[in-house]
Amino acid sequence: MAKLYFRHGTVGSAKTLNLLAVAHNYRQQGKKVLLVKPELDTRFGKESIRSRAGLEMEADILVKPSTNLLERDYDNISCILVDEAQFLSKALIEQLREITLIHKIPVICYGLRTDFRSHLFEGAMRLMEVADSIEEVKATCHYCNRKSILNLKHVNGRATLDGPTVQLGAEEKYYPACYECYKSQIQQASETESPVCC
Ligand SMILES: [Zn+2]
Repeated sequence: MAKLYFRHGTVGSAKTLNLLAVAHNYRQQGKKVLLVKPELDTRFGKESIRSRAGLEMEADILVKPSTNLLERDYDNISCILVDEAQFLSKALIEQLREITLIHKIPVICYGLRTDFRSHLFEGAMRLMEVADSIEEVKATCHYCNRKSILNLKHVNGRATLDGPTVQLGAEEKYYPACYECYKSQIQQASETESPVCC
């Protein structure tokens, strides 16, 4: 059996850059890797996996909720790399888990642990449950120098807990934050809201 890895980090923790570096290393050795991402992440164009640092590769598989990863061929594949794995369903994570067993191919999943409300994403939750290896890709809080653990959402420059959980490509901004700064930013934003009563 090969291993299933979950490398999680907040926004801005260079997860995609890490993924592309791993892909590059395999390819330099003449080995084939398969790049997978959920179809719903269309920030940088449909097929592209691009890091904020500018590096970019084409995804081999765009995963839809109806995709069955167990139906494909994995001949000569040395490693499967998954970007934005938090958006995959529980069922898709379980298919990746099976691939490590059936095809003996390591699967490395990169993604966020929690949404902007601080709750686990479906894909992240299943990975936490069944991955052999859980590693944190570290980033610094946007507001202080502690390690970030949460993703703070801003709409029109104001921290908020409102809106849908998955809203890619919209005008919202997300910042890495430690717990204390996350709480104080949300608190400040709610205090400056116009009063509802009186
Ligand atoms: Zn902080």
